[in-house]
Amino acid sequence: MERLQIEVEASARHIHLTAEALETLFGPGYALHKKRDLSQPGEYLSEEKVRIEGPRGAIDKVSILGPLRKGTQIEVSLTDARVLGIKPPVRLSGDIAGSAGLTVVGPAGTLVLAEGAVVAKRHIHLIPETAERYGIVDGQIVSVVVGGERGLTFDQTAVRVHPNFADRMHIDFDEVNAAGLPGEVMGTVILK
Ligand SMILES: [Zn+2]
Repeated sequence: MERLQIEVEASARHIHLTAEALETLFGPGYALHKKRDLSQPGEYLSEEKVRIEGPRGAIDKVSILGPLRKGTQIEVSLTDARVLGIKPPVRLSGDIAGSAGLTVVGPAGTLVLAEGAVVAKRHIHLIPETAERYGIVDGQIVSVVVGGERGLTFDQTAVRVHPNFADRMHIDFDEVNAAGLPGEVMGTVILK
């Protein structure tokens, strides 16, 4: 069977906010300003940035992604976690129960979160048509091979299937750098 080739995209550290959290950080009635659309339909990078603070260090100019969500979530790399002095679990987006605490600082206020910081589990977004064509199901764990000078295999890649997705793999910058990826590359999906 032909193997699925997937575009591998780097996901920089970012934060998703609830409407309430946005108001705490930026003031009552505040709305995000879209800077550009992301590859996943409806998702966008905003103009707004915040500072995140952990017990050991802080990181400035962390991007806020829109639209607003039902839970506030901060996605950092393991390198970021070391700088901040926190131990976030590796999770898929939305699964924040029992994750690491962090403080978020905006121009109008501060949010002290008991949980919400995670390291994003590497994942693939697929539309149902692509998943079906390659015999892949939602929730499946696959491996993805990338080539090049530091080529490697990303095991433990979770697949999420939804009609509102665009076909992409998402990894963080620790993973991008481990593989020495030069920019946009295609990965080969290996089914277990
Ligand atoms: Zn993603």
